[in-house]
Amino acid sequence: MGRTGLFWLILLVMASWAGLSHATPKKQEVVKNITLVHAGVLLAVPGQPPLMEQTIVIEGRKIREIRPGYITGADLMMPYAKIIDLKDEFVMPGLMDMHVHLTLMKGDDIKADDMALEGVINARKTLMAGFTTVRDLGARGNVIFKLRDRISEGQIDGPRIFAAGQIIGVGRPDGGMECNGPESCRRTTRSLISSGADWIKIYASCSGSKFCSDQDGAPMFFEDEIEAVIGVAKKYGIKVAAHSHPRDSALFVLKYGVSSIEHGSFMNDKALKAMKKQGVYFVPTLSVHDMLEKLKSDGKVKGRMLAHNDAFLKIHPQTIMRAYRKGVKMATGSDAGIVPHGKNYRELERFVDLGISPMDALKMATVNGADLLGRTQELGTVAAGKFADIIALSADPLQDIYNIEKIVFVMKEGKIYKKE
Ligand SMILES: [Zn+2]
Repeated sequence: MGRTGLFWLILLVMASWAGLSHATPKKQEVVKNITLVHAGVLLAVPGQPPLMEQTIVIEGRKIREIRPGYITGADLMMPYAKIIDLKDEFVMPGLMDMHVHLTLMKGDDIKADDMALEGVINARKTLMAGFTTVRDLGARGNVIFKLRDRISEGQIDGPRIFAAGQIIGVGRPDGGMECNGPESCRRTTRSLISSGADWIKIYASCSGSKFCSDQDGAPMFFEDEIEAVIGVAKKYGIKVAAHSHPRDSALFVLKYGVSSIEHGSFMNDKALKAMKKQGVYFVPTLSVHDMLEKLKSDGKVKGRMLAHNDAFLKIHPQTIMRAYRKGVKMATGSDAGIVPHGKNYRELERFVDLGISPMDALKMATVNGADLLGRTQELGTVAAGKFADIIALSADPLQDIYNIEKIVFVMKEGKIYKKE
């Protein structure tokens, strides 16, 4: 054997020794990365009654199966399986917030680096509050797409993000992209999608902080403009969310095929009927009332603006309850960014305070969110084949919705982010 032959032989022996010494058990762990969650109470599918004493078998990022009773690794011939004890907890799917602005900051001269840092902080707060998926409906620039990608790669702790990027509006929308005439609207929509938008968000009416969002406010788009935006989005298989306050703006965009109406403050029965018929979601962002009520009690708004806000505070809850009683599909969205991040659960609390049942509120924040995103195959419930997005509370939110704040455990795609 020549020197080269000997060199290769030694290398081969070293490599196989290294392999034998520690690769065998590790290899098995990598292949069968099994975690068993012992759930005292498991609300696997919000909307259906919870189950007692269940074991969720998780393999890697996904749920493999759910078994009654507390199963151990030995029972499954998988002695290496890791056990997570949530026998005293209320276990359910990760919550979903369908209206956030993770990188939104006030002011005119906001830098991308500041928005990036803000986004990192807010993403973490959101995840720790038990929200494992969000839809981000409006940001400046493209930072939100980068944040989404870094979280998805596991480099930053945060919820799974479906992002719209900049909002499309007419004229010069606040921090948004212009759509003036069908050609411009088509160009804007294409450009957003090529920048990485998962959703398209449009201003069907102006911002809630302006008088043009009053009950009688005009729809913002011309028909050929809205057709252009929705036409491009449909071509790419991307859904459209419409911000809408006045009575007529929702009905106007509903004619062209949007997937959700955001806020919907002054919608009339005609609009609600159309939404029910078309299966369009209502995301009311009721939490915004926290902010408006505080502005009012602090005496910070006066005159015409006070009357404008008061009309909204009075009618909006009525619209929400009319939609709920009519059976319009609803999902929870906090508008965090306008209200604090990490308190996304306020939407569920406010829903229940208004008269929605705790079970329905939990369903709107899980099952319905997944449906709105078109991701029921992988999100929204604790079921075999879905992502292991699992949270636990120290008390039952069906008894008292305010227990939704008592998050003691957060898992996203099989990785534990919080365990108290
Ligand atoms: Zn918003």
